[in-house]
Amino acid sequence: MYQVRFVYWNLLGETNMSFGGLSINKTTLIFGIFIFFVELSYQGLRTTVLASPSAVVLMYHRFGEGEYPSTNTTVEQLDGHIKELLSGQYKILPVPEIVERLLDGEALPSKTIGITIDDAYRSVYEVAWPKFKAANLPITIFVSTAHIDSSSRRHMSWGQLRDLAEQGVTIGHHTVSHLHMIAASRELIDKELTEAYSRFEEELGFRPRVFSYPYGEASLAIIKQIRDFGFDAAFGQHSGAIGNKSDRFYLPRFSMNESYGGLDRFRLVINALPLPLTDVTPVDPLLGAELQTPNPPPMGFTMAEHYKNLEKLACFLSHAGRAEIERLGHSRFEVRTSQPFPKGRTRLNCTLPGPDRRWHWYGRQFYRP
Ligand SMILES: [Zn+2]
Repeated sequence: MYQVRFVYWNLLGETNMSFGGLSINKTTLIFGIFIFFVELSYQGLRTTVLASPSAVVLMYHRFGEGEYPSTNTTVEQLDGHIKELLSGQYKILPVPEIVERLLDGEALPSKTIGITIDDAYRSVYEVAWPKFKAANLPITIFVSTAHIDSSSRRHMSWGQLRDLAEQGVTIGHHTVSHLHMIAASRELIDKELTEAYSRFEEELGFRPRVFSYPYGEASLAIIKQIRDFGFDAAFGQHSGAIGNKSDRFYLPRFSMNESYGGLDRFRLVINALPLPLTDVTPVDPLLGAELQTPNPPPMGFTMAEHYKNLEKLACFLSHAGRAEIERLGHSRFEVRTSQPFPKGRTRLNCTLPGPDRRWHWYGRQFYRP
């Protein structure tokens, strides 16, 4: 590199130069300049490859609590996850930093991962935190304050949360009572947000900046209320990678539990890439909020980027399995099923194979009252 630059600076001199007896003519010089710029653009390209406008955030609940397999991660699974995260391929960053950098249009290191844990179970403090701490991995814990105030032996105490906060753990807001926000009035949600703020301030001395929706349930109106309340970002429980076009007040996370915590699935999701979609319908995750929504609702999206292998796009519904996809024109897709959505939560996941055996992944969670 240095030598090539030396040749470049000599360009304005004579057309034939001597380097320790070696004569260089004009053609060699021009070739040298060519190499110089090739190297320059290679450096630029390498920067682009290393930086990525995407990240994956994981969601855990309990650790080593085998009586609750749907929310539990076994100690062996957790050890496997940490070993994989420390393998050198990934960059684990605090969630607030991921959100700020990504959604402010900055690139992140390739394979950036965030770790979140909901509900502040005691097993986080006793089982998981010592392991995450020893591995120097930053975590965010979303707390419903009534769980802590109840002094239940299943949950952490305020003293334990204070200890974690002092050690650099990010504490997030998860309402007071872990309510179904979707069934609550605007006033009740506001009361929950304000009261939890007071408890966090009294016990920890600060207000959390990030929020997670209990059960991942939200509507457009609730998402707006969370945004207007002044949080920096909010997370749901739908799968998918976060891209720089994601809604920062309803961000996806990959859920971990005993069924989904195997190492193959773990590697698959932490390597996921965003599937950039626009004009997604239905707009509101709360079905029935839009007038005359039929059941099943019409679901569709426009692919924002061009992919050559769109025939490999696949969508799955949690209640109906693989759905049919109809391609309309160049980049519009409609997802079809004949099976009505049941009451409560339904998830849609769409995937497309990407480069290096990584998957583009987009997920949504709908709620039918
Ligand atoms: Zn929760």
